[in-house]
Amino acid sequence: MGRVNETRTTCAYCGVGCGIIASPKGDVRGDPDHPANHGRLCSKGTALGETLDNSRRLLRPRMDGGNIAWDDALDEVARRFTDTIAAHGPDAVAFYVSGQLLTEDYYVANKLMKGFIGSANIDTNSRLCMASSVAGHIRAFGDDSVPGVYEDLEQADLVVLVGSNLAWCHPVLYQRLVVARESRGTRIVVIDPRRTATSEIADLQLSLKPGSDVSLFNGLLAYLHREGCVDHAWVAKHTDGFQDALAAAEAMSTIAAVAKTTGLAASDIKTFYEWFAATERTVTAFSQGVNQSSAGTDKVNAIINCHLATARIGQPGMGPFSITGQPNAMGGREVGGLANQLAAHVGFDDAAQMARVGRFWSAPAVAPRPGLKAIEMFDAVREGKIKAIWIMATNPADSLPRAGLIREALKACPFVVVSDCWDTDTTALAHMVLPAAAWSEKDGTVTNSERRISRQRPFRMPPGEAKPDWWMITEVARRMGWTDAFPYRGPADIFCEHAALSGYVNENRPFNISGLAGLSDEAYDRMEPVRWPVLPGHAHTGSGRLFGDGEFATDNGRARFIATPWRPPADSTRRDMPFMLNTGRIRDQWHTMTRTGEISRLMTHREEPFLEIHPDDAGKLGVEDGGLVRAATAHGTCILRCEIVPGQKPGEVFAPMHWSDRFCSSGPINRLVTAAHDPVSGQPELKATPARLAPVPTMWRGLLFTNTDALPSGPFYAARIPVAAGYIFELRGWEPLPKEGDLAAFVATLLGKADGVAVQDLTRGLHRFAVTARGHLQAALFLSKAPEGLPEREKVIALAEQSVTDDFLMDQLAIPTIIPAKVSPGPIVCTCLSVRASTIRQAIRDKGLRTCKEIGATLGAGTSCGSCVPEINCILRAETLIPA
Ligand code: SF4
Repeated sequence: MGRVNETRTTCAYCGVGCGIIASPKGDVRGDPDHPANHGRLCSKGTALGETLDNSRRLLRPRMDGGNIAWDDALDEVARRFTDTIAAHGPDAVAFYVSGQLLTEDYYVANKLMKGFIGSANIDTNSRLCMASSVAGHIRAFGDDSVPGVYEDLEQADLVVLVGSNLAWCHPVLYQRLVVARESRGTRIVVIDPRRTATSEIADLQLSLKPGSDVSLFNGLLAYLHREGCVDHAWVAKHTDGFQDALAAAEAMSTIAAVAKTTGLAASDIKTFYEWFAATERTVTAFSQGVNQSSAGTDKVNAIINCHLATARIGQPGMGPFSITGQPNAMGGREVGGLANQLAAHVGFDDAAQMARVGRFWSAPAVAPRPGLKAIEMFDAVREGKIKAIWIMATNPADSLPRAGLIREALKACPFVVVSDCWDTDTTALAHMVLPAAAWSEKDGTVTNSERRISRQRPFRMPPGEAKPDWWMITEVARRMGWTDAFPYRGPADIFCEHAALSGYVNENRPFNISGLAGLSDEAYDRMEPVRWPVLPGHAHTGSGRLFGDGEFATDNGRARFIATPWRPPADSTRRDMPFMLNTGRIRDQWHTMTRTGEISRLMTHREEPFLEIHPDDAGKLGVEDGGLVRAATAHGTCILRCEIVPGQKPGEVFAPMHWSDRFCSSGPINRLVTAAHDPVSGQPELKATPARLAPVPTMWRGLLFTNTDALPSGPFYAARIPVAAGYIFELRGWEPLPKEGDLAAFVATLLGKADGVAVQDLTRGLHRFAVTARGHLQAALFLSKAPEGLPEREKVIALAEQSVTDDFLMDQLAIPTIIPAKVSPGPIVCTCLSVRASTIRQAIRDKGLRTCKEIGATLGAGTSCGSCVPEINCILRAETLIPA
C-alpha cells in the first residue's frame, strides 16, 4: 500500500512493466504488490524521480516557431488534415505513434485514422521493436498472443535467451531469472553475436554470425526429429504444416551444416541441442536481436516451430516468449496501432470481422486495406505521397534507419505535427508542436510483455498548457466532424469502449477484456494489474498461460508450423565494407535520451557514445582504446570513440542507438543503418549493416565546461555530459589547433565570450581559458596537443560549484611544470552509489574480494537496485584471472 500522497503507477521505460509508488516530490520506489517486479526497480526506474524537472518541457502549442492558443492549434490541425484528405484522399495523411503512448491514447488515434479518416496509415515505433514477433505469432497461433507468463522464466530448467541482453534491457526480469537460477539451478544459454552483460550468467554462450538464428533453430528442429524428440501425437492432434517446416529445416540436417552458417563450434551446437532435447521445461525468450532483422519473422517462427514440435507451450516453465522493448508496445498491439492490424487483434484479411469493427464504431469509412509500415510511410512522405503527418511521442529524426533521409522527408512535407513533452530533433522539423503530458501526469493503462494491464496514474499536474495525447486527438476528431464518435470525458470512457470492442469481435481470440468493459470511473481508477484475457464475470484462464490445451486462434484451432528456409542478412559485407555494424541499447539510457540524457547520474554509466571493436580488428586498423574511428556505411558516416572489447567478435562492431545530434557530434547511429526490412513484418534490419572503419588521428584534446547545452561544432568530435552546474564537453580534434589569432576566435566561440582568464604554454601546446559571471565560473576550456595535459574532470566540476575570483582562477588554471599523465577513472558501474569500475578493480586487488557479495559489503556497489551486478561479476572474472 502507498502512503498518503503516494500513487501506485507504472514505470515508463521498458516492457517488463514494473509497478512503482511515487510521490509528487519525485520519490520513487518499487511497488511490492505489483506482480511484475514485487518491489524491485532497475537503475533507470530508480532514477525516474530525477526526470521530473520541467525546465525543458514544452509548455504551449507552437506553430511555425511562435506560440499559439490550443483552440487555434487544434482548429489548424483539423483543417489541414481535412483539406489534405479532401484534395488527395485519406492515404495522403498519416500518424506515426509510439510505445510510449498509453493504450487510451493509442485507441483514439487508431480509431480516428482507421475508422473515420478511412486510411490505415497509422504505424507505431514498436515497428522497430517487435513487429516480427507480432507477425510470427499471427502466422503460428492465428493471433498475436504471447503464450507465457513471467513465472515461466522462474519455473524453467532451461532458459534460452536469443538476441536478448536481458541484464541491460529488461533488468528486473533478469533479476527474477537470477534468483530462480540460484534456487533451482536453471541452465541458461545465451545466443547473441557478442558477449553482453547477460552472458555472465550463461552456462553456454553461442556467439553466432549475425542473422544466422534461423539456421540454428532449423538445425534444432531437424535434430529433435532425428533424435525422436518430436511429440508426434500432439503435433498430429494440434498442428498443421510440420512436414513442410521439417523439409525446410532439413537443409540444416547436420551439425556441420549449422556450424558452417552460424560460425559456431560443432561441439557447442551439439551441447545446446542436447540440452534443449532433454529439458522439458524450456523457455526460449527473445527480443530485438531476433526481431530487428530482415528475416525477423522467420526467426520467430523457427523458434516457435521447435516448441510446437515438442509440445512445450502454454505449460509451466515452457514456451516461446517474446519480450517487448517499450512500456506499452503490447497496448499498441491490442488497439491495432500497427498499420497491418485494424483494431482489437482484427486484421485486414477477414471482411466480416472488419465490418463488425466498423459497426461497433459506427464508422463511416473503415480502412479497406493495411496501411504503410514505418519505413514505407516515411518513404511516402519523402516522395510527396503523404502530405500531412502527426508524430506522437517519438523522435523518428533520430531513431529510424537512414535518419538523414527521414529528416529530408519531414523538411519536404507540407504539414508536420509533433506532440511531445520536450523539443527533439523531430520537433525542430515540425510546423505545429503540441505540448504533451509526461508519464508522471498521464492517466490510463499500459500492457507489459506478459499481457498484464496496469494502471498508469498521474501524481503531478501537467506544467503550462501540456495536455494528454488522448485529449488532443479527441479534440481534433471532433473538429473534423466526428463529435458523436469521440464523446470521451476521460481515459476510463476510452478504456471501457476498447474493452467492449475486444469482446464484440474476439469471441474466439485470446485478446478479450470485455470483463472490464463496464468499469465505473472509480473502479477504473482502482483497477489492479490484470493479465488478459479477462472475460465477463472476470473469468480468467486459470494459470494466465495461453494454448496449454492445444487450442489455438486459427480458423481450425490448430497451430501452424511455418517453413523457414534460412537466408543471410539482406546486405552482406563486401571487400570495401568488411565490418558488420550492430546497434542496440545500453543499461541506463532510453530511446534517443530525451528523458535519460539529462540525468547526470544515469550518464555516468556510459558518458559518451562508442563503437565496440575486437582487439584484433583494432590492432589491424591501428586504433587504440578511446581513439577516434570513422565508421562509414552506404548511408552515412560518423566519427566515434572506439572501445576495444574482447567480447565483440572480429569483423563485427557495435554502437548504441541512443545518442543524437543534441548529445554528440557523431549524431544518431541510425543515420548509418540500412533500411532493409523483413518482408512480412516490415521490421528494419537494425543489427546488420555493412560498414568500413578507418582510424582518425587526434591532433588535440579538449575539455569544455559551459552552462549552456548547445553542442559546439567544427572539425572535432564533441560529446555533451550533464553535470550538476552545467555541461562538460569532451573534445577531440582531427585538424591542428588554429594558430594564435585564429585560436582566440576559436576559443571565444567555444566559451561564448572573448575576454577572461588565460594561461598558455605554447611550447607544450597547452591552453587554459576561463570566464566568470557574478563570481562563478561561466565557462572554461582546456586544450592540449598531448594526450596528457587536461585536468581531471572532477576538478573542473568542483570549480564550477564554488565562488571564484579571477585571481583564484589564474591560480587554479596554472600549468604545473610536470604534468601527470591523465589516468581515466573509468565509468561508474553502480550509478546508485557512484562506484567506479576502477574502484572495484582496486578493491579486488588490494582487499582480495572474490564475490559480488564481498564487493557489496565493502563498497556498497550492487546493493541498491542490483542492475550493475552483471558488470561487477564481469570485472571479478577478469580481475581474478590476473595473477597476484
Ligand atoms: Fe522500469 Fe523496465 Fe527497469 Fe522495470 S525493468 S524499472 S519497467 S526500466
